[in-house]
Amino acid sequence: MMNFKDIAVPDSTLNAFERHISSGTFPHATLLTGTDEKNLQAVALFLASALVCGEKDAPCGHCTNCLKSEKNVHPDIKTVSPREKRKSVNMEECREMIMDSYVLPNEAERKVYIITSAQTLDEKVQNAMLKILEEPPQYVYFILLCTNPSAMLGTVMSRVSVFTAGNGNDAEDETARGIALNIVDALMKINEIDLIRATVPLDRDRQLVKKTMESFKGFVNASLRARQGIGEDETDMASRFTVEELMNLNSCADEIIAACDRNANEKLLITLISASFRRAIGG
Ligand SMILES: [Zn+2]
Repeated sequence: MMNFKDIAVPDSTLNAFERHISSGTFPHATLLTGTDEKNLQAVALFLASALVCGEKDAPCGHCTNCLKSEKNVHPDIKTVSPREKRKSVNMEECREMIMDSYVLPNEAERKVYIITSAQTLDEKVQNAMLKILEEPPQYVYFILLCTNPSAMLGTVMSRVSVFTAGNGNDAEDETARGIALNIVDALMKINEIDLIRATVPLDRDRQLVKKTMESFKGFVNASLRARQGIGEDETDMASRFTVEELMNLNSCADEIIAACDRNANEKLLITLISASFRRAIGG
């Protein structure tokens, strides 16, 4: 039987998993990010087996639930993947999953849905999932696997707990980049709600706040350079904001990075991001 040491995830993720599983507080909607879909599936299956195992040291490895999970035949662990050679889960499959989630578990106390390649879900399907992600039946857990968090709607990101899976820092960088892009998007639209939503995944992870701010600075600096005719502006902020506003955003990000280094509380950091960024662009 696998244990927590056998899955390829950064230490911060591993600690969070152990804490949540042992205290019974695992979030009902999670998004696992990483570059290797196979590893994401292994991590998700492992989490699912821990969730359906009824024993104290979940996954215990010898109860009926664990034995079935290990053979990948547990009726309460469902993988939601596109059928018929399509690349992404479509609306019909999404609706089926939602209907099915209201049916009580077969054998375990809980039921887990693993949604593969979440980055390929189109906007309609992502929107259709919002309600169930926000208020799932109490026995249901959704685990979305995602190799590109920037493809997810901000509204989805704000309803899931984001965990970095995969080896080392690549996956963490990808997550930070995705969140930074959602922040940029909210700033461009001057949408306060979107801005708050974009920062929700940063809750409880100061390291991720720091990486996100570093990634954000990368986008701002590219826009500043683009204004001088050097290089490409990936986010189009150059056409949206003045040089002064861009420089303000840059120093706000610096302040937040400094606050991370002083071990500021994560909730405070998140509040700081939405308040100071809005001020930076005169919003
Ligand atoms: Zn067990």
